Order: sequence, then C-alpha cells, then structure tokens
Amino acid sequence: MKQITLPSGKQIPVLGQGTSHMGRSENTKDEVAALRRGIELGMTVIDTAELYDNEELVAEAINGQRPKVYLVTKVMPSNASKKDTLEACDRSLKKLKTDHVDLYLLHWKGSTPLSETFEAFDLLKKSGKILDFGVSNFDTTDLEKAYALDKTVAANQVLYNFEHRGIEWDLLPWCQKHQLPVMAYTPLERGEIKNHPALQKIAARHNSTVYQIALAWVLRQNNLMTIPKSSNITHVEENFKALDIKLSREDLLEIDAAFPPPKKKVALETI
Ligand code: NAP
Repeated sequence: MKQITLPSGKQIPVLGQGTSHMGRSENTKDEVAALRRGIELGMTVIDTAELYDNEELVAEAINGQRPKVYLVTKVMPSNASKKDTLEACDRSLKKLKTDHVDLYLLHWKGSTPLSETFEAFDLLKKSGKILDFGVSNFDTTDLEKAYALDKTVAANQVLYNFEHRGIEWDLLPWCQKHQLPVMAYTPLERGEIKNHPALQKIAARHNSTVYQIALAWVLRQNNLMTIPKSSNITHVEENFKALDIKLSREDLLEIDAAFPPPKKKVALETI
C-alpha cells in the first residue's frame, strides 16, 4: 500500500481504520473481526481515543499483531494538563494492553496551554510510552503555534470529505509545505453521501461504490492518509479496493461542480 512519511521518517499506510462508535452495541464481535480483516489487508493504522471508550475492544482486535499495527489514541483536552496527560496515557496503555502507542494526539485544543501538554508528551516520548505525538482539530493558526513550540509534531487529524473541503484553502497547503501529515477523519461523511446523484454517476463509471469514490477522492491529496470506520468485513474489503481507483480529470471536475472547493478561508469544521 502507498505510504506517507512522518517527520520522524516512519512510514505509515495511507488507508487505516477508525473506531469511533465501536464498542457500544451488541456486535463487538463483528467490530473486532472487521478491524482484524483490515489489519490483514494492510490497513494497519488503528485510530482510537480515550473519548471513544473502546480501547479495550481495540486491544482485542490487535491482540497477537501489535508489531504490525500503528496505534493512535488521543487525550481529551480536559485531561491535557501535564499531570493528567501522563495519567491518561497510562490508563490508555492499560486498556490497550500495550506498553506504547505509536501516536498520541491532543483530541482538540482546550484551555490548558499547549506548551504544558507538549511537556507531558515529551516526557511520555522519553519514557517510550509514546513514539510520536500530534494534534487533532487544529486550524492553521493553532498549528503554526504548535509547530513553533515543537517541530516534531507528527500529524494533524482533521475532518475532510466532499462536504467539508475547507482545509484545501490554507490548512492542507500549510501541512504539505511543512511535510506535516494530515489524517483525514470522517472521509465517508458517516455514510451520508451515498445517495448523491453526481457521486453515483462517477461510481457507476468505475464499477465501484460511492464509498470507494469518497476514499479515492480524499486520497488524491499528497501527504494525507485517512481512517474510515467500518464494523463490517465486506465494507472493509470494499474500502481497501478503493486504493485501485484512479479518478479522471472529468471525475474531479464533476465532483468540484457538485461539492465546490473553498473560495476563501473557512474556519476548520469539526464533528
Ligand atoms: P466515516 O468513516 O466517514 O463513516 C463511518 C460510517 O460509514 C459507518 O456508519 C460505516 O458503517 C459506514 N461505512 C464504512 N465503509 C462503508 C462501506 N464500504 N459501505 C457502506 N458503508 C460504509 O465516519 P467516522 O467514524 O466519523 O470517521 C472515521 C474515524 O475518524 C472515526 O471512527 C474516528 O476514529 C476518527 N474521527 C476522529 C475525530 C477527531 O475529532 N479526531 C472525529 C471524528 C472521527 P459500517 O460500520 O456498517 O460499515
């Protein structure tokens, strides 16, 4: 699978797996099976968060294959003080049944000074509990501040899909210029794009599904990877096959007509 390179030099696959809303229903068996199938296919970046309250489920999914997995979890802004971040990380490690996470993100910016959270991240890095750290839901100005504090920030995880293209204006170009990887979340707009006629037309041309077109479109960007969530093995396999789709100029123009790119700065949207 195509890879992107983190500032540390570490390479990760462009297609990973999200886990939001997993662990809440009866079908945890299917969720674990879907994540395991994705890992088998090479979608080895697994994204969770203390907020999702599903780190134990993720532990079950990665059991026996930890070395293959690039594990991402997040600390909540309400736990972003130095002391609370150190404790939150220990709790996550315990739930994830691992001695380290590969990437630890601040879930979004809160009231704790970023320098204090970064101090904790630095200590966690030194102790080997995290290999890298980054941020999430940071717009350009905040990212510039984060980068000024520490140039080893490894990624910014943000909302990006057909309906939310604001990052194309300045955030994505800034990240590309500084080679700071972007992790695109909610690439399928939680499934809400499936009935769009323009997308259905393009999908039919590629003998694919609208979901696959959504992933191929997000992944046309450099320096960006994405983490669709699926609890269904068939969907995971379908998402994997999106990697084979090459969108044409005509496809991209039709998508621009249906979902116009930003014409000015749009404040970073979040969900
Ligand atoms: P998403 O990945 O855009 O969409 C997930 C939905 O799409 C699920 O309902 C899933 O249903 C469905 N789906 C997936 N593949 C499909 C396919 N091939 N065919 C039909 N339906 C399909 O939404 P998301 O979960 O919000 O975003 C992805 C991940 O990003 C999250 O899980 C989380 O890890 C991360 N995230 C991060 C933040 C942040 O603040 N940092 C915010 C939101 C999300 P099935 O399960 O039935 O397949």
